[in-house]
Amino acid sequence: MALTCPVCEDTRVRTKLRKQGVEILQCAACRLAFWIPGAGFDPSSLYDGDYFASEHAAHGYDDYAALEPALRATFRRRLAKLGGATGAKLLDVGAAYGFAASEAERAGFRVFAAEISADAARHAGALVPGRVLRASADHLPFGTACFDVVTLWDVIEHLPAPHAAVSEIARCLRPGGRLVLTTGDVGSLVAWLSGARWHLYTLPEHLFFYSRESLRRLLGSHGFRVETIRAEGALYPVGYLVERLRKTLVGRSRTGSIRFPGAGLVVPVNLFDVITVTARREAAP
Ligand SMILES: [Zn+2]
Repeated sequence: MALTCPVCEDTRVRTKLRKQGVEILQCAACRLAFWIPGAGFDPSSLYDGDYFASEHAAHGYDDYAALEPALRATFRRRLAKLGGATGAKLLDVGAAYGFAASEAERAGFRVFAAEISADAARHAGALVPGRVLRASADHLPFGTACFDVVTLWDVIEHLPAPHAAVSEIARCLRPGGRLVLTTGDVGSLVAWLSGARWHLYTLPEHLFFYSRESLRRLLGSHGFRVETIRAEGALYPVGYLVERLRKTLVGRSRTGSIRFPGAGLVVPVNLFDVITVTARREAAP
């Protein structure tokens, strides 16, 4: 059976690069890059407590909770750009610890959240009590057309079944409602210059590496009209950036995080390799 692109089904799929023994493929038509996990790989099993807090685990974050001030500041900026919050119903898919959901609530949205990790859902539930459901993006336990906005902040690259997830999100959005997502741009200059060392080729949690065209095709095939695609950047603590740079250059070590004066200082970073996509669900014909 010929290999086909998981987004556009084109059969012109080639090896792009190898990283950690994994062959990353790319579709010549929509430029989606992806890899094919072996049988028995269950992406949902990645997101236990260790994913969000372990300096030594092979994947995930050293200390996600420590990023709270920077993440909240980033989400505040992103949410401010959505406008028209008051009373609008927002679903945050892949809510992690609930920082975005909490900021959306502060911004005036009526917020619900879906999160696959039991550990993360517990944290999120403490911030937006009673409105965090443990669910995967392709089986959302919400009614049809009941949300004005759905957000996926750095989540879509983790989802093993993108068409099923986007179809489910479209079902939950009212006609005219908006989907806003952020993800890495595999077609960006920084991704190209970095090759296999690109900081968003994080295996095994990132399954897909989207291009702008692949997102247009994915969303378009579920009744979305893409309105804007922008490279907007985010805010990070200096210590986190140093740690990421060290891991990129020398790999993971067991020395623990670097502590130094100013490590907690939050600074804006825009490498123009993370994009924010806003799409509107077209009214049913
Ligand atoms: Zn494709």
